[in-house]
Amino acid sequence: MQGGNSKQTPRDGAVVIIGGGPCGLMLAIELGRRNIPTVLLEEKVQPSRFPSANATQARTMEHYRRLGFAEKVRARGLPPDYPTDIAYFTRYTKYELARFSLPSAQQAREIVKTLTGSWSAAELPHRVSQIFVEDVLREEAAALPSVSLRTGWRMTAMRDNGAHVVVEIERSDGSEQATLRAAYAVGADGGGSPTRKLLGFDYVGESGAVRDFMGGRMFAIHIRSPRLYEVIPYPRAWMYWAVNRQRRAFMPSVNGRDEFTFHTQLRAGEKADQISDAQAKAMFRDSLGAEMDVEIIGRSTWNAGYTLVAEKFQHGRIFLGGDAAHLFTPTGGLGYNTAVEDAVNLGWKLAAVLKGWGGPALLGSYETERQALARRNTTYARGFADSVGLYVPPAELEDDSPSGEAARKKAGDHFNYHARFEFNIPGITFGGRYDGSPIVVGDGTAPPPDKPNEYVPTACPGGRAPHLWLGDGRSLYDTLGFEFTLLRFGRNPPDAAPFQVEAQARGLPLTVVDIAADEARDLYEADLVLIRPDQIVAWRGNASVDAARILRQASGYQDLKSAYP
Ligand SMILES: Cc1cc2nc3c(=O)[nH]c(=O)nc-3n(C[C@H](O)[C@H](O)[C@H](O)COP(=O)(O)OP(=O)(O)OC[C@H]3O[C@@H](n4cnc5c(N)ncnc54)[C@H](O)[C@@H]3O)c2cc1C
Repeated sequence: MQGGNSKQTPRDGAVVIIGGGPCGLMLAIELGRRNIPTVLLEEKVQPSRFPSANATQARTMEHYRRLGFAEKVRARGLPPDYPTDIAYFTRYTKYELARFSLPSAQQAREIVKTLTGSWSAAELPHRVSQIFVEDVLREEAAALPSVSLRTGWRMTAMRDNGAHVVVEIERSDGSEQATLRAAYAVGADGGGSPTRKLLGFDYVGESGAVRDFMGGRMFAIHIRSPRLYEVIPYPRAWMYWAVNRQRRAFMPSVNGRDEFTFHTQLRAGEKADQISDAQAKAMFRDSLGAEMDVEIIGRSTWNAGYTLVAEKFQHGRIFLGGDAAHLFTPTGGLGYNTAVEDAVNLGWKLAAVLKGWGGPALLGSYETERQALARRNTTYARGFADSVGLYVPPAELEDDSPSGEAARKKAGDHFNYHARFEFNIPGITFGGRYDGSPIVVGDGTAPPPDKPNEYVPTACPGGRAPHLWLGDGRSLYDTLGFEFTLLRFGRNPPDAAPFQVEAQARGLPLTVVDIAADEARDLYEADLVLIRPDQIVAWRGNASVDAARILRQASGYQDLKSAYP
């Protein structure tokens, strides 16, 4: 941590995080768990209560499990027995076109232990509004002694002077100014990112996609209606879609009782700030297909049609993460999940460098690894937006006639296919990889092809460590150490001592875990596997002879140039 003049530096941190959304909070937790002095600035005095993200992907839940609060998150949002179906209607009270049935939170807890193949995982997804997840993240971050959450404070300027970062801050009401000094700063400050603008980095990609739906300016209302479930004559769903020529919309249930968020796309000439509450309610009634009043709790606007990734994620001691580094169309539910994974990736690396065991290539690997992932994930999200949004409802879709029925059958086929394409994505969530990263020690094998809906478990270095339920019912992940882990498989595993000696010499925290089950050895196809703190396979092999070289590279001591042929 930087020292300094206490007048100019009222509260220093080793890391200053700008932004208290999911990315900033998760990063604060990763750093705080490692006792890194961290200051998080959030300009909002009170967190937003407008629900935006609705889906926590399985991989994000696995990270919450690693940190010990997955169950706390799974207990929030919808009631435990509430189905998480995705259902498509012409209008919510008219014809149901398609439905993809998915388990409740309670069922998810049970069935995950029985799944293999693509869904071989420690956790399944959890359909929960971002407001509830952020509550948990905030509680977890606030409980960490080395983390200082400064809500109602904003970053106004920042400079990297080579030795440290100077961050100018002020209270959101302008009543007080201060200066912070830190070793590193991270802009997790959302789509408008002042940090990204300050660094002069543009987003690169597509920003104005036009589609019949999910391509344009969106208008959203958070509504309360205790009667809505009575009025909709179909089984409950988590996500309700309306498909018609007048008012397309999607509407996730927020609490499974009486709160929903209704999102529709504005037409040419419709301006969000000119829409009265009465008009907003009429929009909702158009999608409902029935007369019913609702209470409007809040309203918001957002843009669908972004596929954007920042041209750089780092400049010197300043980093970007989350929406500040990439903007999605929310199809597939990947924006917040990608933001959380940025924080996971950067958190252990910053801590390792600050503690002295991370080498010079470690921080640079953040951009190498996460920018490629952001391009991949934003591209997948665009594909989902095209699949749902380029579909144009035919004129006869709502007709009570044979041609109407035929049109609904065809629409049903499309949306039954689409729902599985967009909402069953183990390949995206588990299959993200860091091939070519300077801190991954490749073994010459090729990973399985990247597919959105299929995940092939593989211990090919650079990807998520394949998951396994052990004979005693534990998740393999629950046996891993918090930093690096050396897994030893088989009844007579190779000697771990060269790794342990080298790790000790470097001050690198290493846990050795022995797993005798043949199934585990078969899954990993090696006797020894080195797992990173973010559960990515760093290396696999059958002997410890190269332990020094392997640990050096995995902890960022490899010269960047020599890592790329
Ligand atoms: C309708 C909708 C549905 C969505 N659904 C999903 C979904 O299902 N799944 C999914 O993964 N994603 C979804 N997303 C995307 C998700 O909401 C975002 O990707 C996510 O919030 C990004 O988190 P973040 O922490 O990077 O940024 P943000 O959540 O935007 O947080 C940034 C924070 O920085 C603060 N800030 C800004 N400037 C400053 C400053 N100068 N000083 C201090 N603080 C500052 C802001 O107040 C804000 O709190 C959805 C988005 C929308 C709009």
